[in-house]
Amino acid sequence: MFFHWSYLLLIPGMILVFWAQQRVQNTYRKYSEIPSRGGMTGAQVAKMILDRMGIYNVTVEPVAGELTDHYDPSAKAVRLSEVVYNSTSLAAAAVAAHECGHVLQDVKGYKPMNMRAALVPAVNLGANFGPILIMAGLFIGALGKVFIPLGIALFAAVIIFHIVTLPVEFDASNRALRLIDELGILQGEENQGARKVLNAAAFTYVATALYAVLQLVQYILIAMGQRD
Ligand SMILES: [Zn+2]
Repeated sequence: MFFHWSYLLLIPGMILVFWAQQRVQNTYRKYSEIPSRGGMTGAQVAKMILDRMGIYNVTVEPVAGELTDHYDPSAKAVRLSEVVYNSTSLAAAAVAAHECGHVLQDVKGYKPMNMRAALVPAVNLGANFGPILIMAGLFIGALGKVFIPLGIALFAAVIIFHIVTLPVEFDASNRALRLIDELGILQGEENQGARKVLNAAAFTYVATALYAVLQLVQYILIAMGQRD
C-alpha cells in the first residue's frame, strides 16, 4: 500500500500552509520598507520595552538569517535577525516587540509557554517516530495492531504542541501591540501596519496546526483501512 486515497486530504492543508507563508512574506516585505516616524531600530525597540518593564537580565543580540527572530528563555536572550536588529521599519518594530512579548510571558510565568516548552521532547519523538511506526505497522501486518495506534498516540503529542503554540503566539503579539502603542514606539496608523505583520505571522501557526490535524486524521484513516 504505497498510496492511500487519504493522502489527498493533505492537499488543502499544503495549499493553506503555502498560502500563509506567502502572505507573511509579502506582508513582512511591505512593512519592512516603511520606516517608523520614531526611527527606532528593532534593537532599540526591544531594549526600550525590556527597560520600561524593569527587565534587566535579558540581553538583545543580533542573529544571522532572515525571520530567525526568537527569544531563548534558557539563555535569557532576545535574538533578532540582523535586518530586524538594525532596521527602523514598522515590521522590525513589530517583530522586536513580539519577541519581548515572549520575555514577558517568561517573566510572568505564563502557563501555555511552560507547557509548550515541556512538550518539545515529546514533539521531536512524535514527529519523527510517529509516522515511522505507522508506516512500519502497515508493512509488518500482525504487529501493526500495536505499532499503528502507538504511532498515532505519539503523533497526537505533535498536535497538542501546535495547539498550545497558538495562545502563546497570539498572547505575545497582543502584548507587543499594546506596548508599541503605549510606549509611543509607533504612532497612529503605524500601529495598523505592525498589527498586519503580526497577524500574518500568527496565521502561519494556525495553518501549521491545521495541517498537523489533517495528518493525524489521515493516519487514523489508514489505520482504520488496515483493520478491514
Ligand atoms: Zn513568537
